[in-house]
Amino acid sequence: MGETVTGVEGSAAERTSSGEVATDLTGDSMLISFYGVRGSTPCSGPELARYGGNTACVVLEAADTEPIVFDLGTGLRYWGETQPLDGTFEATALVTHLHWDHVQGLPFFPNADRVGARFDIYAPCALHQELQTAWEEFMRPPYFPVKASDLRGDYNFRRICDAEFDVGRANIMARPVPHVGDTNGYRVSVGQTTVAYISDHQQPEDPTTVDPHVLELAQGADLLIHDAQYTPEEFAERAHWGHCTVAYAIEVAVQAEAKCLALFHHDPSHHDEMMDTLYEEAKALAESRGLKLICAREGLQVSLPATQ
Ligand SMILES: [Zn+2]
Ligand SMILES: [Zn+2]
Repeated sequence: MGETVTGVEGSAAERTSSGEVATDLTGDSMLISFYGVRGSTPCSGPELARYGGNTACVVLEAADTEPIVFDLGTGLRYWGETQPLDGTFEATALVTHLHWDHVQGLPFFPNADRVGARFDIYAPCALHQELQTAWEEFMRPPYFPVKASDLRGDYNFRRICDAEFDVGRANIMARPVPHVGDTNGYRVSVGQTTVAYISDHQQPEDPTTVDPHVLELAQGADLLIHDAQYTPEEFAERAHWGHCTVAYAIEVAVQAEAKCLALFHHDPSHHDEMMDTLYEEAKALAESRGLKLICAREGLQVSLPATQ
């Protein structure tokens, strides 16, 4: 992974000589690692190199808790390079919805495709359909050479839309959020330390209002990872595509009293220089409203110290 920052305050995770981050994951601290930050479709090119072109995949690590991965976009393959291939892999995935940019990494994730490995995958889907059936439709010939049912690991597909449950020491809240089709947002708390993940969020007609489920998920979060796909001009042309502006992401964070906002789900057309400009403008707007703001990019790690 690349750069490490602290999301709110405290000391940054330390880097070992191998480049790995040696984080003191004790108590209620968390490490958040961004492996894919784009929305819609993976993209590549020198003009995108700094922020990265893989689609949504963010990993949360905490003490005495198996890894929790938000979304299974193409960034998943790069997380896989850090994970065991010997059948000992165990993790939980919180998938916001089944659009391609949130699931395309799973067929290219060999760590779970091993006898003995376990991957618990939570996602929303239509009431008339089992989640496993939806995955089997997505992952089968002629679209992909391997059928989902031929995978060797213990994949547990669980439909979820409005629930709370625990994984290790982490308490997870899932709530439906406005997008296009069934979509969840998630809130994960370890003790008093909390991350909210709302990757795809349809901005309402009145941008001073925020959906109650979104507010519930993001309330007081130490880090809110939120859709920030469009400029105002782009939103005007794509107002019903399920996303929001950078300014609306700030509005959500301010209303929810989140401590830090990470801009996320960047439009694939936004090259690095444009991202720099959007980020600078967003930081100024956020500062004027008393909000700390960062911009997600591949390789970024955010260390959240335990909340006192
Ligand atoms: Zn998306
Ligand atoms: Zn979507």
